[in-house]
Amino acid sequence: MSGTGPITTEQLRQWDKRHVWHPFTQMREWEQDEQIIIVKGEGCWLIDTDGKRYLDGVASMWTNVHGHCRRELNDALKEQVERLEHSTLLGLASEQSIILAARLAEITPQGLDRFFYSDNGSTAMEVAVKMAYQYQVHSGRPERSRFITFKNAYHGDTLGAVSVGGIDIYHTTFKPLMFETLQAPAPYCYRCELGCSRHSCSMECLDALENLMKDNADKVAGLVIEPLVQGAGGMIVQPAGFLRRVRELCDRYDILMIADEVATGFGRTGAMFACNHEGVVPDIMAISKGIAAGYLPLATTVTTDKVYSAFLGSYSELKTFFHGHTFTGNPLACAVALKSLQLFRQDNLLAELQPKIARLKKGLDEFTVLTHVGDVRQCGLAAGVELVEDKKTGSPYPWEDRVGIRVCLEARKRGVFSRPLGNTIVIFPPLVISDSELDMLLNVLRESIQVVTV
Ligand code: PMP
Repeated sequence: MSGTGPITTEQLRQWDKRHVWHPFTQMREWEQDEQIIIVKGEGCWLIDTDGKRYLDGVASMWTNVHGHCRRELNDALKEQVERLEHSTLLGLASEQSIILAARLAEITPQGLDRFFYSDNGSTAMEVAVKMAYQYQVHSGRPERSRFITFKNAYHGDTLGAVSVGGIDIYHTTFKPLMFETLQAPAPYCYRCELGCSRHSCSMECLDALENLMKDNADKVAGLVIEPLVQGAGGMIVQPAGFLRRVRELCDRYDILMIADEVATGFGRTGAMFACNHEGVVPDIMAISKGIAAGYLPLATTVTTDKVYSAFLGSYSELKTFFHGHTFTGNPLACAVALKSLQLFRQDNLLAELQPKIARLKKGLDEFTVLTHVGDVRQCGLAAGVELVEDKKTGSPYPWEDRVGIRVCLEARKRGVFSRPLGNTIVIFPPLVISDSELDMLLNVLRESIQVVTV
């Protein structure tokens, strides 16, 4: 790097193309296009180097809660950085991580009191999987090493998280590196594998799940589930009661239930956690994304005293949980997370969310009637609009047509940033989105769908 003047947008674009390898991105295409470079955030808006504003329709990869650059969060971060930026949890405790765990214990489902920190959703799930297996080992059942997973599931991109995932397009390449799992059918009602229809089914997919359990219970360490909605799979919303029945089955077959609340946690579904809707207490729960309001990488895997206690013993028994990351319990992230929890209370955010969820529902009705909209799914302030080539048959657009991406490019021209999941358009704004911003988001996306799918 040379020169002392301000760095131009053109220079940033060049360096980006020369040096930055973007995630989940075909870099040849990326290099051919002119990319937007974000330099500022304000509420629900992202602002680029030219001062152009984009409504953040996906809450910066599903993380943002209280808006960008919220003053109280900025102040909490500044205050903390003046006192302590980082200190390890390996061999030392630190103030913010302790207070945060105590505060989280007040809001996580009853009985989930033991917090193991890490940095992101994938690590939170790696921890969950390893914790569940080691628990079985310490309980005298080392043969229980397998996991039940769901088709279309997504739990992150590290190898353990990929192994328990079920999205072929992302995961097939890595198959030789993955451990095998027992895959249950997804409760994807629009494309039900068992040929049922949403309004008439009695959740036959749970029978298939129970059969898997019956046949394999003595080999299974745990079941991994995204509660209420499979996010990256396409915002696939489960039928009411599904999660509770999964919990009952896990109890019946003595299988640990691991709930991945990475995307659903912290208000997204209209309750603090998705599990709350069905009164479910998992044995292990992974949380990240919204935990630090979208400011900093932070995650925690929380479990019960029962699981935690199985790891207690003398040093020589080797019952220690041999896992840990360098930035575990980072004080800056914890300080922001604590302030975020305070804002949830102060702003009465969960209550404020309910009319917005209703407004989203109403707005989505106008998508249902569009010629190429096959299915519209909503869970709280998250929604997916699945585009299809033929509405009657539900036949999908070929993925190579990149219909979802084209819709999002149209939306971008109209001042909205969104990112699709295949042919599904995602609506996942910061929780503080205003009524007028939500209306704009919906109008722009609807219009963009119409332009692309004529
Ligand atoms: N679990 C779920 C349910 C997710 O949606 C995601 C990310 N979209 C992850 C895990 C992985 O999180 P991260 O990208 O922070 O590793």
